[in-house]
Amino acid sequence: MIRPILVANWKMNKTVSESLDFVSRLKQLVIGINDRQVVIAPPFTALYSVGATLKASGIGLAAQNLSENSDGACTGEVSARMLADMGCTYVIVGHSERRSLFGESNAVVCAKISMALQFGMQPIVCIGETLEERETGRTFDVLARQIKEGLHQIESSDIRHLLIAYEPVWAIGTGKTATPEQAGKAHAFIRQLIEKSYGKEPASRLPVIYGGSVRPDNIGKLMAQDDINGALVGGASLDVDTFAKIVAF
Ligand code: PEP
Repeated sequence: MIRPILVANWKMNKTVSESLDFVSRLKQLVIGINDRQVVIAPPFTALYSVGATLKASGIGLAAQNLSENSDGACTGEVSARMLADMGCTYVIVGHSERRSLFGESNAVVCAKISMALQFGMQPIVCIGETLEERETGRTFDVLARQIKEGLHQIESSDIRHLLIAYEPVWAIGTGKTATPEQAGKAHAFIRQLIEKSYGKEPASRLPVIYGGSVRPDNIGKLMAQDDINGALVGGASLDVDTFAKIVAF
């Protein structure tokens, strides 16, 4: 049984003080909820202070991105070593906004996953098809290629440290959620792919979470699907009471 995981991706939102107000209140709202993992992904600028406030709370800290390079001449980038030092135990890799706005390829995603693993962080690897790809019947081909190329340099022994987020691009920030059946099929397909390449045991333990317009009113049905192990939440994670309702699905 995989423990459900609920991740708040704040994207480029919240100052340090807004972030601290949120996490201070969230800690109170989730007291006693121990059967699921909650993770907050603030912007880089708030990571240190949010991490300090979350210490010993059981709530995890994630970065939204990392550099594929080691420390050195990369102005404006943030390395895996710096993020681990700040207390991040998770890092989002290959979010569709990184892929579409910043041109991240599957090869870059693969290099970032390796970096995260090297520094002991659990990569939350985002994959998903565009609307055009879905409408032309290419969803499963796209997912298969993102997994094959994104994980091609990852050791089998590291699969147990990964988390995959299925995020259909057409459902992100649009208010259109995949139906629980559509999402469930994609998650089952992802698990089968991992099973084919790495075996039954790692596949059965791999958390595959769903992202795309998750809200308090749809989380329950999504989580009722066998292969959905949690959610990556964007817009609805910006309000603490709304996110707490999702956590308590
Ligand atoms: C996301 O940013 O990963 C996301 C799923 O956003 P939203 O929940 O707003 O669709």
